Amino acid sequence: MNQTEASTSIDFIRTIINEDMESNKYAGRVHTRFPPEPNGYLHIGHAKSICLNFGVANEYDGLGNLRFDDTNPTKEETEYVESIQEDVRWLGFDWDDRLFYASDYFDQLYEYAVQLINKGVAYVDDLSADDIRAYRGTLTEPGKDSPYRERSINENLDLFERMKAGEFPNGSRTLRAKIDMASPNITMRDPVLYRILKVSHHRTGDKWVIYPMYDFTHCLSDSIEGITHSLCTLEFENNRALYDWVLDQLEVYHPQQIEFARLNLSYTVLSKRKLLQLVEDGVVESWDDPRMPTLSGLRRRGYTPQAIRDFCNHIGVSKTNSIIDIALLEFFIRKDLNTRAPRKMGVLRPLKVVITNYPEGQVEELQAINNPEDESMGTRQVPFSRVLYIEQDDFREVPPPKYRRLIPGREVRLRYGYFITCQDVIKDEETGEVIELRCTYDPETKGGNAPDGRKVKATLHWVSADHAVEAEVRLYDRLFNANNPDEVEGGQDFKSNLNPDSLEVLKGCYVEGSLADAEPGITYQFERQGYFTVDSKDSKNGSLVFNRTISLRDTWAKIEKSRKK
Ligand code: ATP
Ligand code: MG
Repeated sequence: MNQTEASTSIDFIRTIINEDMESNKYAGRVHTRFPPEPNGYLHIGHAKSICLNFGVANEYDGLGNLRFDDTNPTKEETEYVESIQEDVRWLGFDWDDRLFYASDYFDQLYEYAVQLINKGVAYVDDLSADDIRAYRGTLTEPGKDSPYRERSINENLDLFERMKAGEFPNGSRTLRAKIDMASPNITMRDPVLYRILKVSHHRTGDKWVIYPMYDFTHCLSDSIEGITHSLCTLEFENNRALYDWVLDQLEVYHPQQIEFARLNLSYTVLSKRKLLQLVEDGVVESWDDPRMPTLSGLRRRGYTPQAIRDFCNHIGVSKTNSIIDIALLEFFIRKDLNTRAPRKMGVLRPLKVVITNYPEGQVEELQAINNPEDESMGTRQVPFSRVLYIEQDDFREVPPPKYRRLIPGREVRLRYGYFITCQDVIKDEETGEVIELRCTYDPETKGGNAPDGRKVKATLHWVSADHAVEAEVRLYDRLFNANNPDEVEGGQDFKSNLNPDSLEVLKGCYVEGSLADAEPGITYQFERQGYFTVDSKDSKNGSLVFNRTISLRDTWAKIEKSRKK
């Protein structure tokens, strides 16, 4: 993967902005906005849009606004408004004092609608939603004019005002733009501009019973805020004509809408509606469940803003839809945590080891490296004693082929410690399960090397039983089994592709005692195991809970490499 590629080649959006700067189209200004609808938590797809909008603004010494596109009062909540602000800040971007709400413009938008009526290019329609749909036509057939299309301006003004006054029931009337029912672009077939909706709004309360539609609101909000480049995803390509039509009809300041491909990730759904279903159906615990592709879920899982920004910069923007391999996102989090995360030892599935020739009650402090990638992170002392835990997987009574770890009679190295040899295996009398190993150590091998130069084939992590602290560890796998969870057999929906094994909870794990007071949100590398983040919700009151952020790849190769250094 070529890291410089994304940052040096200029994408089509920056090419357009460069041309606009050259021609002085917006007097040298660049002003973007990120316009979420507060109907859910932000996900990694939104991160792409945030990095693009605020990134472009920063690069051109411009401005970036945060604007809540809150025109649909039935689905919007202040909880979402707050989480969205937290997530954008967490990603590392700032809107200064430019926090806006489309609902701030409701008065002004109403005035603009009245202007369109006065111009004879908007009318009140009495058709029901179903009839409007039926009259709209199809891709191959033109639509039909509504019987109410030719109302007089005065009648339209009167009806629109009465719609606003609440005289008519929900859905009984709409305000529509009078454009062209035969337009090849279906968006332009007299789109609805206002609908009646007697619902309280999270900001305007009961002031309004009519609400403007997205297409009418968005372009005018951009115009009001002096946005220069209105960056949106490809599904709005057909809406650009309407964006331009509204602004042209009203003869107001006119930003440029530019569409780019949305982010799709393999094994992931990126739709707030679907993510909400997972929360509501209890498939996941909450919006910030560490398996969720939401920014709050990724944060709780241990993803860093840096990794997400690097990922977004790397994938760049394009005009064609594709599915990005989730492994690429995982590459960036590993890369970032590798340099950042302090190393620790943690045993997830403990097997007791008694070093029979190690004196009872003796404790030695061994020196361990905090991060081989960063010397400035220094070293720490790890206690060694007679009773230890190692990983169950690191011992086999009957080894499979090429098994290099501990078996009866074999010598292996304990990381930062000694060579040990397994002398005896103790089993549960009833189940036959291995419950303890009796080993001897070679006191001459302190620090991990034998003076006679003899080699061992494996290095195991371990903790001292008396000094370790107990922890719960949550292992996560992909939430979906399918590369594209939306591809389903007839009659099924995306949830049929859920991975039933996406969460495994391990209790009774043992981690280094130095982690007893680990702060929520901090990520460690447990050697040979991966990266683990202290859970920000459940790790409290003396119970220690880790989320596995990501496993290590090439675990073994890496340990061997760092040992040779
Ligand atoms: P969803 O389908 O998840 O609800 P949305 O597009 O309806 O997404 P909005 O809140 O309207 O969500 O999105 C805010 C901004 O983020 C929009 O400009 C939208 O184009 C952009 N955005 C949303 N999803 C993605 C994505 N997957 N990739 C890139 N940009 C996205
Ligand atoms: Mg939307």
